Amino acid sequence: MNLKHAVVAGGAGFLGSHLCDRLLKEGFRVTSVDNFITGNPGNIAHLASNALFSSIQQDIIQPFTIDGDVDYVFNFASPASPVDYLELPIETLLVGSAGTHNTLDLAKAKNAVYFMASTSEVYGDPTVHPQPEEYWGNVNPNGTRSCYDEAKRYSEAAVFAYHRKFGLDTKVVRIFNTYGPRMRVNDGRVVPAFLSQALLGEPLTVFGDGKQTRSFCYVSDLIDGIYRLAMSNQPGPINVGNPSERTMIEFAEEILKATGSSSAITFVPLPTADDPKQRKPDITKAKSLLGWQPEVELSSGLADTITYFKEKLGVA
Ligand code: UDP
Repeated sequence: MNLKHAVVAGGAGFLGSHLCDRLLKEGFRVTSVDNFITGNPGNIAHLASNALFSSIQQDIIQPFTIDGDVDYVFNFASPASPVDYLELPIETLLVGSAGTHNTLDLAKAKNAVYFMASTSEVYGDPTVHPQPEEYWGNVNPNGTRSCYDEAKRYSEAAVFAYHRKFGLDTKVVRIFNTYGPRMRVNDGRVVPAFLSQALLGEPLTVFGDGKQTRSFCYVSDLIDGIYRLAMSNQPGPINVGNPSERTMIEFAEEILKATGSSSAITFVPLPTADDPKQRKPDITKAKSLLGWQPEVELSSGLADTITYFKEKLGVA
């Protein structure tokens, strides 16, 4: 049996682990490469007995090799929560530069398809709304988010350089805010923050005036868009996200409704400068080129996420 082999850098992370699950379901052999700096071995523990899955503890900032044939290299390795990358700015810069080169070199050596997880953060605090792929963004090059934004912009530049220089088959997805089971309870992002606050009866901390907007995509929808792009002949970049946009005040209210919580909503100062004021993907390309659009409603995605968080927090 000669199964296709996919290497997933960041395979123990929130998105990486869901991608491993999908690839295994599609009949791939999968190797996760993760240093567990923000990834969690628990996210892939259910795959331990699967003979088609293996996990390597490895920091992709250091050069590494993989034995045998590799058909796909997926680069999902990076701290991705603003709280995480504020704490790990150097690691974030290095994984988005050296880590991207090392995974690109692996794909080049193995003649594999290379898939880069980029982000809506490349658009910075966008002045164009919703954001189409043609928009070049509005990024502060030395602000507190720059370690992530510029590292991902650098990654995109590196991917296209390898494509142009070596003819590597590359794909870039720009991922917008995503939520679902396996997000870390304390990763600082708004979904885990509001959900754990609501479930524990604590006040929901809305940052700033709460008028900033985000558009939340359920993880199964996102992984489906990613899988379709990986299997397509499209190089991207292609936005994948849910265009259903809301303010953080509206979102806090929806979380209270979904959890049945009577927590208060409290306003606290924005902890990071350059918090984008608005974000919503233009998914025209994903629709027309990949035949993809999100299917899961916020209420149903939240219900599954709440079940997960209840278990993690030990609340009934
Ligand atoms: N946010 C908030 N309260 C929190 C955490 C985040 O109001 O406890 C806001 C944050 O200011 C931002 C939005 O929610 O405008 C999304 O933040 P997140 O950290 O999830 O990701 P981002 O989209 O900023 O990368």
